[in-house]
Amino acid sequence: MRESPQRHAVFGHPISHSLSPAIHHRFGQQSGIALSYEAIDAPPETFATQLDDFRHAGGSGANVTLPLKTLAFERCAQVSDYAARSGVVNTLEALPGSGWRGHNTDGTGLIVDLTERHRQDLRERDLLLLGAGGAAQGVAFALLDAGVRSLTIANRHAERADALADRIGQPGRVHVRYWNDLATLGSWDFIINATSAGVQGTAIDLPFAIVAPRALCYDLSYGRAATAFLAWARTAKAAHVFDGLGMLVEQAAEAFAIWHGVRPDTEAVHAELRERLDAA
Ligand code: NDP
Repeated sequence: MRESPQRHAVFGHPISHSLSPAIHHRFGQQSGIALSYEAIDAPPETFATQLDDFRHAGGSGANVTLPLKTLAFERCAQVSDYAARSGVVNTLEALPGSGWRGHNTDGTGLIVDLTERHRQDLRERDLLLLGAGGAAQGVAFALLDAGVRSLTIANRHAERADALADRIGQPGRVHVRYWNDLATLGSWDFIINATSAGVQGTAIDLPFAIVAPRALCYDLSYGRAATAFLAWARTAKAAHVFDGLGMLVEQAAEAFAIWHGVRPDTEAVHAELRERLDAA
């Protein structure tokens, strides 16, 4: 073990629900790397100052969650190619001296969870992405890279969906639909809930008709926040229904690899957290 632990944190608002500290502490134990990892509640107005304070206090790496991923992108002196495409950052790596290099590990985390843990083939699927916030932005490019045939984005405020589609720039493959029109637009065999409705304790009203036979439904949320969407998907007879716990662990493993140069084994941590959530 190293003498002085490396200092890490996750910034978000709200943040008390975050499992990231538990995940990174377990990864550290597993890899023999001494680290500290705390959850910092940071509203958008004070995030920049809090991030600077963290850096001055020795912070060497941070994760960023809702609603701060675009702000984090704007704070970076450098960004990875994937973060540059998506315009959102969930992982900050301290550059020597000062400044941050921004990464986005959400996309890889989701794809690893879906294809390696759940053995799903994403190619040639027609995907409906619900939400156009930081998480949706972070995963959309990876899903297109993974071979989905088409991507339809529906967001409560339509202009944000338009902005994401414009950013992607593949008009033949990426479409925007009004949330309130979904019931009349047919069905999809892959539906991702990337809204924060569950985290905020709000129900989203979705028609069952949008779920095609053999559909794969995935909620980026987990725990209590995912309950309503997962129950809706099962009632709609989706063939495969998953929450975002696996993605959470995989995106954390990617961040850990950026900071420490080793990708931890995720299975034991995932199983432990699943047990904890099931018991709650
Ligand atoms: P943002 O705050 O950036 O975006 C929130 C999104 O949810 C927006 O599209 C917003 O729509 C939509 N939304 C919020 N409330 C409602 C509602 N009542 N009805 C319909 N749409 C709603 O959050 P993020 O994108 O960063 O996070 C979204 C979710 O993804 C969170 O639950 C987060 O925990 C989860 N997540 C999980 C990860 C994992 O590893 N498993 C990683 C990243 C995120 P509008 O624009 O109209 O306001």
